[in-house]
Amino acid sequence: MSVNQQAHTGPPYGRPQPGYQGYQQPAYGGQPLPGVPQLQYGAYNGPMPGYQQPAPPQGSLRAPSTSGAPPPASGASLPSGHLTYSPFGQGDVQNGIPASAAAVQRPPASQPYLPGSAPMPVSQTPTFQQYGPPPASVQQLSNHMAGMTIGSVAASAPPPAGLGYGPPTSVPPVSGSFSTTGSGLYTPYTASQGPPPTSVSQSLPLAQPPFPGAPRPPTMPGPPLPGQTVAGPPTTQPNHVSSPPPPSAMSGPQPGPPMSGLHGPPPPTHPPQPGYQMQQNGSFGQVRGPQANYGGTYPGTPNYGSQPGPPPPPKRLDPDSIPSPQLNELPPQQKPRHRIDPDAIPSPIQVIEDDRSNCGSEPFVTGVRGQVPPLVTTDFLVKDQGNASPRYIRCTSYNIPCTSDMAKQSQVPLAAVIKPLATLRPEETLPYLVDHGESGPVRCNRCKAYMCPFMQFIEGGRRFQCCFCSCVTEVPPHYFQHLDHTGKRVDFYDRPELSLGSYEFLATVDYCKNNKFPSPPAFIFMIDVSYNAVKSGLVRLICEELKSLLDYLPREGNMEESAIRVGFVTYNKVLHFYNVKSSLAQPQMMVVSDVADMFVPLLDGFLVNVNESRTVIASLLDQIPEMFADTRETETVFAPVIQAGLEALKAAECAGKLFIFHTSLPIAEAPGKLKNRDDKKLINTDKEKTLFQPQTSFYNNLAKDCVAQGCCVDLFLFPNQYLDVATLGVVTYQTGGSIYKYAYFQLETDQDRFLNDLRRDVQKEVGFDAVMRVRTSTGIRATDFFGAFYMSNTTDVEMAGLDCDKTITVEFKHDDKLSEDSGALLQCALLYTSCAGQRRLRIHNLSLNCCTQLADLYRNCETDTLINYLAKYAYRGVLSSPVKTVRDALVNQCAQILACYRKNCASPSSAGQLILPECMKLLPVYLNCVLKSDVLQPGLEVTTDDRAYIRQLVTSMDVAETNVFFYPRLLPLTKADVDSDSLPAAIRNSEERLSKGDIYLLENGLNIFVWVGVNVQQGLIQNLFGVSSFSQISNGLSTLPVLENPFSKKVRSIIDMLQMQRSRYMKLIIVKQEDKLEMLFKHFLVEDKSLSGGASYVDFLCHMHKEIRQLLS
Ligand SMILES: [Zn+2]
Repeated sequence: MSVNQQAHTGPPYGRPQPGYQGYQQPAYGGQPLPGVPQLQYGAYNGPMPGYQQPAPPQGSLRAPSTSGAPPPASGASLPSGHLTYSPFGQGDVQNGIPASAAAVQRPPASQPYLPGSAPMPVSQTPTFQQYGPPPASVQQLSNHMAGMTIGSVAASAPPPAGLGYGPPTSVPPVSGSFSTTGSGLYTPYTASQGPPPTSVSQSLPLAQPPFPGAPRPPTMPGPPLPGQTVAGPPTTQPNHVSSPPPPSAMSGPQPGPPMSGLHGPPPPTHPPQPGYQMQQNGSFGQVRGPQANYGGTYPGTPNYGSQPGPPPPPKRLDPDSIPSPQLNELPPQQKPRHRIDPDAIPSPIQVIEDDRSNCGSEPFVTGVRGQVPPLVTTDFLVKDQGNASPRYIRCTSYNIPCTSDMAKQSQVPLAAVIKPLATLRPEETLPYLVDHGESGPVRCNRCKAYMCPFMQFIEGGRRFQCCFCSCVTEVPPHYFQHLDHTGKRVDFYDRPELSLGSYEFLATVDYCKNNKFPSPPAFIFMIDVSYNAVKSGLVRLICEELKSLLDYLPREGNMEESAIRVGFVTYNKVLHFYNVKSSLAQPQMMVVSDVADMFVPLLDGFLVNVNESRTVIASLLDQIPEMFADTRETETVFAPVIQAGLEALKAAECAGKLFIFHTSLPIAEAPGKLKNRDDKKLINTDKEKTLFQPQTSFYNNLAKDCVAQGCCVDLFLFPNQYLDVATLGVVTYQTGGSIYKYAYFQLETDQDRFLNDLRRDVQKEVGFDAVMRVRTSTGIRATDFFGAFYMSNTTDVEMAGLDCDKTITVEFKHDDKLSEDSGALLQCALLYTSCAGQRRLRIHNLSLNCCTQLADLYRNCETDTLINYLAKYAYRGVLSSPVKTVRDALVNQCAQILACYRKNCASPSSAGQLILPECMKLLPVYLNCVLKSDVLQPGLEVTTDDRAYIRQLVTSMDVAETNVFFYPRLLPLTKADVDSDSLPAAIRNSEERLSKGDIYLLENGLNIFVWVGVNVQQGLIQNLFGVSSFSQISNGLSTLPVLENPFSKKVRSIIDMLQMQRSRYMKLIIVKQEDKLEMLFKHFLVEDKSLSGGASYVDFLCHMHKEIRQLLS
């Protein structure tokens, strides 16, 4: 089974090439891409057949097909002290002279990349000619910034008065908080002046009733009155009356995702939320006195519009003088009275669309240091010319302050969001696998950084100077190569590790545990067969699915079958192991009832090859549902299940993954037994944090043992009540596994989602026994890590398993100065075992610019990445601090970031304005979404398990996932062009953007809502739902009928497309306007005020302005 031992020296992973020129070709096979020299690269280019060929067992969504060939599993390695993976020492940052990072010349971004061609001419001038988007000298920048302060208004702020918007001069400032720069805002500058800051000040000085979070036309019924429960499952699933009614209203139809405040108004006792809700000097927001409005007909929502509002503050103008985009579409009596024109504040949709039109057509070429990539919402192709693709690494800023003082002044977190095994687009090239034979990868003698494009060869090529620590290392004889007249090795373009940002090395035995090449991993399926699991049909469903799914286990390259072995366990209060050895006629069951000291009763025959034991396995999967069909056992154990899997892997001396299908709180007498400690009264108290903490440290210790063995735990939960996700999820979380949750699982409505998740989870690219280390240039250091992993020291991130969806966010801090000339380098090295048992290192390199001017920092930030970091930081914070403290800290940090910009980079002439850096103009709206999320501001109907679940999910999300999770995508389906493949243009997440004559789709990565307006044409309803009128659409529908007409096909294809883009199969929920379920939908209209007390975008922006002004005064 030790594939690696052969592969190590030759086929199938490498075709030995003379003199180590060019690298070995791994067996990734596939069709060569045009334009790529076959000699060196050919074998790498195609999609991985092993991953693509398997046709989906039955159906639609397959992970791999989402983006074609996923990258080969690979990993980077870091010598991990305690695991004795390598003999090398700690590679911490040294204090040497900063390396000349620019030593390796990169071709200009615009030049076509021709691997294998003659070395390009290299200019001797500044190594990196284009550092950031706007090339400019420092002096120029200063001037530039001075102008930008105001000029940029054009970018996102409202057009000049002449264009029909309320003239600024007609809107006097309110209580002096907003200066009346009036027309001066617009005049002197032009939009051509580089990335402008965004000024929204002109729109702030408005009046009157605050902008309504969600204006409701009179025809729409408001939220239920207090006490009028909007029942979850009952109301949402009227079609399934036979299903067991879930105890808690909302959680039924809505597993996991946010759903705060959906069920009616917060009770009068609900304490007022801190922070931005408070009135400050009366200059923004209405007096949302804690509960003044709750008793009204629109609980939780301020009175506005036609509703009698609070007395308008004095000295404010009639808001109706400020036109709002869609007002003319509404009857006069419905006009909300806006304090601020929502169209005058930065629009996420506009920013996304602008980036798409600016960056979507050209490939993003990574040859330029410090280049800010397109947004995650833009579909773009990446060409690796020496820096890692943004699919692997994204940074909060691509221009880092040179000094610690500057970084502290700005408060901009310096962080990288790293997805080491990210799936690439099919057209993109997978990382090449480099085999240096028994000597292994070439590394710096001191810091142990791996050979990369930024190492500088000197002394005719006999030595190289490390770009991280400046140490000079001898080039091993076998690796020697002459330099050309520019000092570059003549084999530069033949070696991925010299010319590309991402690549892999084949690891030698030194990188293996116990100096022994690993065995291929194993998958163990562990099925809860207690009463609930059997009765719901779950056990039968799982067994049926496994019969076909086992043929699609991950396999490597062109291997004909997967090297992964499988095993099976069922359990309730006791565990049943199965011998499925191929020589048996029938499977054999062995029961272990002593769960206190778990052991595996059989070694031979437990983990088997699927093909060899096919008949016995099929027989077992047929028998399991029958064997437990009449069970009366309702209690389960949990920890012993994990222990059993762990022991089995230990006995087999391999890494692997446990797939545990579990239904209930483990209350049976056994180690890790839990009690129900759910207590929502703890919300908003100092003890709230305990809801997120595990109730026993037992699982932390178990997780540690699992990580040491490379035992990754994936958990599929099917709870009908509280089962303590915060505790059960500990092992999953710390082993790099995934949690899926299907509350009130019902076969009819939930099986598609579960099966799609299961199929993707089983098939997806995954590495085992992974260790990741991030090295950096002298001057900064990785100091903090966020994600699903375990750390036994301060530098090595350990994951029993790491799949293509998992992301690690790493924060950096200065420990010295950086220099503008050298810039800053990151090298992420992941050491892992592939699905065939091959030990590999995946290396990602990224070069960033460094600056001495704050303006350069603010012009090269990426807000989506910033939000990813801030959300993870906050979600970890709730484990140890009161939620209010966490929220306040978030607001404060962002206010400081923006205040620093305002103070140092914006024009002094605009003193009272809210001025946002162009790159951060969405920071307020996105930050508000994080603050309103269920983890930080739960609604009454959100369960403790949901919050724990979401907290864990977000912690492993990449930037694209956090983006859509916090600011969902809202598409007007009735505007879709049925003849094109494109999606309709998204609209902003506010109720006032919805027309009752249209149908909309909203997705956030966990759910898809289809909202149907009451006035939708009957023809459209007929085409989409197959019924003749709005009233005939079933409440709580969770699927769309398959109808043969263009509109139905278009909508279903859009949904399919969205499902493919996400790492989890989203739950589809059809919502009729004015139906009770609409409350759930409205929760995701994140620009509006939320029922749980979350501020509207406009109110929050005013609040941020206030905070900034206080910091500046
Ligand atoms: Zn070094």
